[in-house]
Amino acid sequence: MFRKTIRVAVAAFATAALAATAMLTACTEPPADPPAEPVETHDYQIDMTPYETAVNTTDSAYLKLANKQHPLGRDHAPASISALPAELTLYGKEVRLESTAALAAEALVRELRARGYNDIAITSGYRTYDYQQGLFNTYMANEAAAHPDWTQKQCEEKVLTYSARPGTSEHQTGLCIDLISQKNVVLDETFAQNPAYAWLIENAHHFGFILRYPVDKTAVTGYDYEPWHYRFVGVQAATAMHKSGATLEEYLNTASPN
Ligand SMILES: [Zn+2]
Repeated sequence: MFRKTIRVAVAAFATAALAATAMLTACTEPPADPPAEPVETHDYQIDMTPYETAVNTTDSAYLKLANKQHPLGRDHAPASISALPAELTLYGKEVRLESTAALAAEALVRELRARGYNDIAITSGYRTYDYQQGLFNTYMANEAAAHPDWTQKQCEEKVLTYSARPGTSEHQTGLCIDLISQKNVVLDETFAQNPAYAWLIENAHHFGFILRYPVDKTAVTGYDYEPWHYRFVGVQAATAMHKSGATLEEYLNTASPN
């Protein structure tokens, strides 16, 4: 058991506490010191030493937003890319991520395995623009084949509910992963019935990850529920989002990325 203490600044909590303090001390001199930041302690099964710096990054680069309103463009690519250890990926296939996110993802899956969720593997990470283009074209062809009476526009509207237009996929940031069960090799809502899912919902933020497309936030994210898709933002931001229930879009509107 490895106990680590992580200082977490929760913006909403701090703001409310400061406001309350200001009201209480309005008539007294001098004002009280600001409240101490809440401290969160978490027990890790794995030794976090090799991963600590990575998971605790507060670099605003890890808050990069990529969605339908904020496309990355054809040339966007992570500055540094690492391949994940093959034993952590589905069938040992090559999955690459931005290098800091790769360390955090490795820690997350090693922790899952250490806790007995041995069937969980990573099935996708960084995707290039060209890969997205190929995927999008395939989905368009599938919809056209399944609905011969649909126009191109109808097919596109359908595809856009589950796939990003090339240049708008978060996978192009190299900061997100798709997890999968090796006992149920599909990316669909059945992942939410896997016992690992409940653990992820409660604990992924300790590794700097958030569930990116929650079931009740499709109007905000523009995506259907994806219980398998996790985005790296760093422990501090992930913890704030975990506590407030905010999506990345909502968090960025209420918190300065710096
Ligand atoms: Zn994904």
